[in-house]
Amino acid sequence: MAAQGKAANGGSFRRAVPGGDVEVLVAGAGPVGAVAATALAQAGVDVLLVEAAAACPEDLRASTFHPPTLEMLDRLGLLAPLVAQGLKAPVYQYRVRSTGEVLAFDLGELADLTPFPFRLQCEQWKLSRLATERLGERVRFQRRVVHFAQDRDGVTVHLEAPTAIEEVRARYLVAADGANSLIRKWLGVAFEGFTYPEKFLTLSTDCPLEAHFHDLAYVNYVSDPEWWHVMLRTPSLWRVLVTAPNDTPDEVLLSDATTATVFRRLIGDPSVVTRHRTIYRVHQRVAARFDHGRVHLVGDAAHLNNPLGGLGMNSGIHDAMNLADKLVRVLRDGADPDELLPRFGRQRRAVTLSFIQEQTQRNKAMMEASEAARRPVFAELARVVKDRDRRRAWMRRQAMFTSLEEAAAVP
Ligand SMILES: Cc1cc2nc3c(=O)[nH]c(=O)nc-3n(C[C@H](O)[C@H](O)[C@H](O)COP(=O)(O)OP(=O)(O)OC[C@H]3O[C@@H](n4cnc5c(N)ncnc54)[C@H](O)[C@@H]3O)c2cc1C
Repeated sequence: MAAQGKAANGGSFRRAVPGGDVEVLVAGAGPVGAVAATALAQAGVDVLLVEAAAACPEDLRASTFHPPTLEMLDRLGLLAPLVAQGLKAPVYQYRVRSTGEVLAFDLGELADLTPFPFRLQCEQWKLSRLATERLGERVRFQRRVVHFAQDRDGVTVHLEAPTAIEEVRARYLVAADGANSLIRKWLGVAFEGFTYPEKFLTLSTDCPLEAHFHDLAYVNYVSDPEWWHVMLRTPSLWRVLVTAPNDTPDEVLLSDATTATVFRRLIGDPSVVTRHRTIYRVHQRVAARFDHGRVHLVGDAAHLNNPLGGLGMNSGIHDAMNLADKLVRVLRDGADPDELLPRFGRQRRAVTLSFIQEQTQRNKAMMEASEAARRPVFAELARVVKDRDRRRAWMRRQAMFTSLEEAAAVP
């Protein structure tokens, strides 16, 4: 039975494991950590989720949830309230700016494969907020992991709290602490890959973009060698993603002049008002190993990719579910951790490399290709659209069903 315990410096943590404070400590209450903690808690694991910030950060990053991720969230009881706050987007489009050509895919065609044949357009922070509210006292905000040390039996983790350093002992530590993961850095694991030379700028607006394009979907990837861009609808706003040269200063990119240029090009109206303007540096990087004894990397802590295709958060949630399942089997069913946990690392790293990294780079290459290079690619995509079997296979792959099957097949 759980009893209250005091950490060495007086901070109190729920004590449920003999000789330890919690069974699993999850670091980072982004979408990936919040899902990992929810899955563990629902399986009866004594889990604590710690988050450096004072509340779930409301950053405008991921907005697309793919169908298999929706199935996972449904199993955790998180889907219905998320759908209530989002938009169902069965159709996504690839457009060519110069010719006006549109190739559309309708996930509604996969209704025989999934109860959720649509992308859900919903801000990622809504998931983090929902999950952390449900986790209640299992979440501690303003707790930044600053150091950890693992031994044969567990991990001792030090947390920076507002007025003290706290210590917690866990049998396992899940690192969901994002792109700059301190845990990954302490592990000393290589984070191989590259950083794109250009900057990514997102502009959010109330302006009804659908009034300016024929039959615009909620998700639109627009190819152009000079000016490729993405138009995404969220429940309250349209988001436009464009790139800019690395040597353009941030203050120029965030200026009214840049906004006016973007919307003049997009819809011929420089007076569009934005609600948010954000700049990102974007990376393609994968940790050399995800599983490290009692410490495991998931989500952006383990891998980074460009946002084209909406694969980053989704694949992080797939990591979280894969790892949570194996931790439950170890902690509850007595499964062999030395066999099962490295398998998590092998499975998720394999598809990160073979699909997530490969596909996101291919998506970007298609969008920025010269006219001559793009033409055969779009001609092939047009043939896919016309062929029912190929169209379904394409959508299953883009929706990440295939990568989950491939991961499950990795021994
Ligand atoms: C413009 C843009 C659009 C995107 N669109 C999509 C999309 O549509 N679909 C998609 O799948 N992906 C998308 N992504 C990627 C997606 O945003 C990330 O993959 C996702 O946020 C990863 O979630 P995470 O929980 O691993 O990390 P994060 O969301 O970064 O969360 C990490 C959390 O850990 C906390 N933290 C950090 N350090 C510590 C510490 N030491 N101790 C405790 N807590 C700590 C942070 O405060 C944060 O809350 C997009 C990215 C960008 C930039």
